[in-house]
Amino acid sequence: MIISLVNTIHILLHFLLPVLVSFFFFPKIFWTAWALLMISMVIDLDHLFSKKIFQTGRCSIGNHILHSKEAVLTYCLLLFFPKLRLVVLGLLIHLIVDATDCIYIHWKQRFLDR
Ligand SMILES: [Zn+2]
Repeated sequence: MIISLVNTIHILLHFLLPVLVSFFFFPKIFWTAWALLMISMVIDLDHLFSKKIFQTGRCSIGNHILHSKEAVLTYCLLLFFPKLRLVVLGLLIHLIVDATDCIYIHWKQRFLDR
């Protein structure tokens, strides 16, 4: 039960955070900003190259090619290209949300799964 609640919150954060960022930082171009931030969700297509597309308790960061440390470095470098900035910001927001999931998985294994 607690896993499905956590998964639901995780998925909601993938949509809610771009809404909040668009609302507070790009209010004049809200829908454009939100759409560009949401395009970044395509990085989850790298799950298709895994043996299991979705696996509860698996940290995405470092386990999928577009969620790798090299990819994060590439995204940070792409921030220097103004036309790509919103999509790249979306990628980084996506990875932050995924990272919170990794922190939860680590925390759960350490304290709850004993
Ligand atoms: Zn992801």
